[in-house]
Amino acid sequence: MSKTSAKLFAEAQKYIPGGVNSPVRAFKAVGGNPLFIKKAKGPYLQDVEGRKYIELINSWGPMLFGHAFEPVEKAVKKAMKRSPSFGAPTALEVRIAQLICELVPSIEKVRMVNSGTEATMSAIRVARGYTGKDKIIKMEGCYHGHGDSFLIAAGSGAITMGEPNSPGVTKGTAQDTLLAPYNDLEAVKKLIAANPDQIAAIILEPIPGNMGLVLPQEDYLEGLRALCDAHKIVLIFDEVMTGFRLAAGGAQERLGVTPDLTTLGKIIGGGMPVGAYGGKAEIMDFVSPVGPVYQAGTLSGNPIAMAAGYTMLKHIAEHPDVYSHLDAIGEEITDGIGEVMQASGLPYSINQIGSMYSLFFTEKEVTDFESAKGSNTEFFGKYFQAMLKHGVYLAPSQFESLFLSTALKPKHIKAIIKAHKHSIEELTN
Ligand SMILES: *Cc1c(COP(=O)(O)O)cnc(C)c1O
Repeated sequence: MSKTSAKLFAEAQKYIPGGVNSPVRAFKAVGGNPLFIKKAKGPYLQDVEGRKYIELINSWGPMLFGHAFEPVEKAVKKAMKRSPSFGAPTALEVRIAQLICELVPSIEKVRMVNSGTEATMSAIRVARGYTGKDKIIKMEGCYHGHGDSFLIAAGSGAITMGEPNSPGVTKGTAQDTLLAPYNDLEAVKKLIAANPDQIAAIILEPIPGNMGLVLPQEDYLEGLRALCDAHKIVLIFDEVMTGFRLAAGGAQERLGVTPDLTTLGKIIGGGMPVGAYGGKAEIMDFVSPVGPVYQAGTLSGNPIAMAAGYTMLKHIAEHPDVYSHLDAIGEEITDGIGEVMQASGLPYSINQIGSMYSLFFTEKEVTDFESAKGSNTEFFGKYFQAMLKHGVYLAPSQFESLFLSTALKPKHIKAIIKAHKHSIEELTN
């Protein structure tokens, strides 16, 4: 008999800080011990104790076609035989770059990196090099990985500079990151006015999934685009989550707003550690070796990772109906859980677009970080545990989007709605 999750977690904490290699995995926001996973296939995750769950995380997004997607598995096996890494250019890197440029409307040139964090760190460096300016504006509640410049909270006044929200981030770094609430164009205008000719970039998730899912209000992104044009600011869409998930061309294709730079990750690696940043050739040509802005990576464009990523993107390019299918799955699940919520009388608010959704336990519409924080997170913890008991594994935090995959068939959708119904009934009786 193999070890239980509880035993493994106890052991893990001896050797790994908090027992996990990324904090949200520790279940701190929902209580209890994290499940240790043995394997996954299609929509199912299996823990080390042999329990099977229908899961709505999909490795935080990458598994658009469900787990252990066979074409990716085959491509990786084939690439492995040729040696896992060369540190020299390969034909496959050209093919994946070409495909990304074809799929994502704003990308003319692209550089591969190893994570979303690297992509956003590099994108702001290029924006700063290109504009010769230092400051960036980010939106409260948007997550751009763990780079120092992004681990910044709003200062006390609306137009003051940011403050580090993690020890280890220097005040100097924080000074260059300005914060605005998401969906608040006026706040951005004020920041630009208070810092004339100093803003290199505005970076945001066009459709944030990292405060739970939040949707942009009418004309918000268009307004940011116009401000960036008027003030020579580089507009960066962080599409690490939404890229290849909401459309082949990401949120920018779906919403029809074109950024100058885009950061990608998650799906682009098909489950391997990959990120990318790209955009206008004029800006990307500031990147070394053609330009002066330094950015490099020993394993960037790694052949195994590229084989997985290329296979994912190729599948997407060849199956444009994937997104209408995912939209239908997203709508069916949120309609189902919405009906149950309505009948329960509990306060709730559901945000959904395509294969991303969040159920918040608040009656107020969730449009930014402030309103997301109005959700009853204690109740969410109980809901999470109840769903787990009924065989559905959700993201272990209220402030995450859920991710659906094409592996969800009608019977799985029914099972999710049924688990939701039982969970809500148990929690209200
Ligand atoms: C996940 C995520 C990142 C960070 O990517 P990592 O690969 O975890 O470094 C950055 N931005 C957004 C929007 C993300 O969702």
